Amino acid sequence: MRILIVEDNRRLAQLIAKGCGKEGFAADCCADLEGAQAALAATRYDAVILDLGLPDGDGLDFLSALRGEGSDMPVLVLTARDALEARVEGLNAGADDYLLKPFAMEELVARLRALLRRPGKALGRVLSAGNVALDTVGREVSVAGAPVMFSKRETDLLEILLRRQGRVVPKETIEQGLHAFDDEVSSNTVEVSVHRLRKRLEEAGATAEIHTLRGIGYLLGVA
Ligand code: CA
Repeated sequence: MRILIVEDNRRLAQLIAKGCGKEGFAADCCADLEGAQAALAATRYDAVILDLGLPDGDGLDFLSALRGEGSDMPVLVLTARDALEARVEGLNAGADDYLLKPFAMEELVARLRALLRRPGKALGRVLSAGNVALDTVGREVSVAGAPVMFSKRETDLLEILLRRQGRVVPKETIEQGLHAFDDEVSSNTVEVSVHRLRKRLEEAGATAEIHTLRGIGYLLGVA
């Protein structure tokens, strides 16, 4: 699998390339849109990791041009949290998934793998399991179609579990995922957060439930 990383922060680009390399992806880096166009013309890539703020233009323009040409290559967009609101429309128009900076490398690789498992098929902004749905952009949760108020951390945790539903998610993965979203994560945060989220889901009548696999991790399944 060959990945193109379009990111003008050289250090971050190298970090991503290293992280991808460790996971067995071949990654090329370019620092601007001109470089990205040249790379895409010269080589076939399986996915693109795209920063939005680039020295010679906006990543979203590049993305719409790509989609305009009929390309369905998976694109994972990197964006800062404060820039997200203004960009939601553009992201919906062409990105398969997005990741907020700063992020854990493990999260990036997990998203990349998810994209590559379903080539040409957008993940969409809404993730669901059973009657539980999470709007990943609006950060809104609903159970059986009715909105339910979840705390930020509960929502972040639910997203991590939804993205890997049916699979065991190691505690460390959750720890790192929550860490990327929020810096104040203590050692028992995961247990406490899972406990709360499970209770909230039960109270709301969710058909998705969190199973604990002692010493291994957690699994979101549909009852
Ligand atoms: Ca940038």
